[in-house]
Amino acid sequence: MGDKTKSIINDYSDEFGSIIPPIYLGSVYKYIDEELSKKSDRNIVIKYYREENPSLRVLERVIASLEQTEDALVFSSGMAAISTLGMNFLNKGSKVLLLKEMYGSTIQFFENLSDKYCITIKKVFPSHESIIREIEDNNYDLILIESLTNPTLKVLDVSEIGKIIKKTESNIIIDNTFASPILLKPSKYGFNLILNSTTKYMSGHNDSMGGSISGKSSLINDLWEWRRLLGNMQQPFEAYLTLRGIKTLPIRIQQQSENAQAISEFLQDKSKISRVLYPGLKDSPYNSVAKKVFEKPYFGGVLSFEIKGNVKETKDFIKNLKLVKPSPSLGGTESLITLPSITASRYISENDKKELGISEKLIRLSVGLEDVQDIINDLDQALNKI
Ligand SMILES: *Cc1c(COP(=O)(O)O)cnc(C)c1O
Repeated sequence: MGDKTKSIINDYSDEFGSIIPPIYLGSVYKYIDEELSKKSDRNIVIKYYREENPSLRVLERVIASLEQTEDALVFSSGMAAISTLGMNFLNKGSKVLLLKEMYGSTIQFFENLSDKYCITIKKVFPSHESIIREIEDNNYDLILIESLTNPTLKVLDVSEIGKIIKKTESNIIIDNTFASPILLKPSKYGFNLILNSTTKYMSGHNDSMGGSISGKSSLINDLWEWRRLLGNMQQPFEAYLTLRGIKTLPIRIQQQSENAQAISEFLQDKSKISRVLYPGLKDSPYNSVAKKVFEKPYFGGVLSFEIKGNVKETKDFIKNLKLVKPSPSLGGTESLITLPSITASRYISENDKKELGISEKLIRLSVGLEDVQDIINDLDQALNKI
């Protein structure tokens, strides 16, 4: 685990020499006492599936290796992972630092807790300067940020944020869902806990749900206790699908990024388009920081844009699409389009939306693996009808 190999290696082996790990559906295993029982590679007794399951373990080892961390845990969803972090790090009266622009349910989860448990939440603009300033000035019990924000695709300079982690020994949790470990490896910059909604790019086929947390073994052990108590581990079949999806993660991210780049450039040249947000565009304010922190010379599969016209015309454009489907998720093989102001960003306050540039008309496109010319033709015909 946590080795520096560049390939996605599944080191599973069994008595029959199966190349592919089986799905362990058993909820119980033989158990007399700790001494006599089979243990996982992290020395947890395999006796009850809520605690440790071999199917989840194979996936966890692969994710830890991809994120270059000591260990990892998988959960039933990204939100299950986030709520487990809340259980682990928060006490009555705790202070939480978030970004103004974040996955909507993440914001809602902490805001709901804040009323119940007197937790103070501070949200800052997504930039390394504002995050560093906050951490230097205050003590936070939990800090959660996103590496590539949704839906305006702001890229954080994680190398700068990493320096403050070393200086203050803060545990900053970074949600790496949009970038994926192919584009960004936060552990390189000193991040101790990395979160992914594996529902998105990691599994990548719009057919499974999951979440992962990767990091130092000591932290992962604490979170393992909470997962055992909450019972929000991933299901074996979902773990199998995620493991199956991860094998093609590098080539999917590359192709989806290339498609997104071509589509962004196409849209930028259209007179009916008023703005395109994509870090791969040369005139994007995030192009140079993306080049600095990303592992690859490409920029991810999500872009956002606005058409010239009102909200009704924007919705008409979406209705006119034939190949690209309207749906709020992202990261899969099918191209999906959504209006974030009524989906992922609906819990962001009106003031914050204004500051962040999330208008009612902003459209987010998660580019799939269809032929890029087919996607462009679809966008073009839908634009021509409005
Ligand atoms: C989808 C998403 C989540 C939540 O994950 P689920 O698997 O839907 O629970 C968290 N963070 C980001 C950035 C996401 O896109």
